[in-house]
Amino acid sequence: MDLARFPNLHVSSHPLVAHKLALLRDRATQPKKFRELVRELSWLLGYEAMADLTTRPITIETPLEPMAGAELEPKVGLIPVLRAGLGMVDAMLELMPSAEVWHIGLYRDERSLKPVEYYNKLPDAATVQVCLILDPMLATGGSSAATVDILKHWGAARVKQVSLIAAPEGVATLSAAHPDVDIHVGAIDRALNERGYIVPGLGDAGDRQFGTFAGPSSEPGHDPTDETAEVVRRLQQNLAREP
Ligand code: URA
Repeated sequence: MDLARFPNLHVSSHPLVAHKLALLRDRATQPKKFRELVRELSWLLGYEAMADLTTRPITIETPLEPMAGAELEPKVGLIPVLRAGLGMVDAMLELMPSAEVWHIGLYRDERSLKPVEYYNKLPDAATVQVCLILDPMLATGGSSAATVDILKHWGAARVKQVSLIAAPEGVATLSAAHPDVDIHVGAIDRALNERGYIVPGLGDAGDRQFGTFAGPSSEPGHDPTDETAEVVRRLQQNLAREP
């Protein structure tokens, strides 16, 4: 993938991220370990994603003398994409304990792969300036683009996406809809398959965190519908067409 096409895309080159991603992807990794890795990777990627947040000067007193310190200027909101994004929240709150966590419920229709909103209790006016959308897998980009629409309409001045793994199709969709959104990821994988899963990926990030392997519709192996495959084909054509 030609990363230069997407100036707002930041792919981590940190060796710890690469190491932990390999453990995360391994099919033998069990939910407990998987959750720990999601948390550790979120910490590392969150640290990188927040590198350009502004600070304002404050005066503090050390035990020895006063000095000029700094405090974060913007109020930050965390928006986990339910349900897989929930596993990223605690790590982000460790980094920024005063961040607000706002839930927007969108699910991906398994056939059309389109986001469907089912929960949104945002107050009328934005209470934060910077929003971080947390989703381990940036797949089609549809849910993310829809979430950004909601957050911008709410009044968020700046939106960033933090994902552990992204598909090129998802990066292209989100960047085309919202070129101002920074996208921070641990890796860009090869493609989406005809079922809308990222390959090689790691399977279903929600099921692997929460141990819910029984649901047929969330099984990576479930039959693709014609509609799903068609959506993926369209995304791939868009990706190939872009300059
Ligand atoms: N969501 C997942 O959990 N995995 C994928 O590969 C794509 C979307």
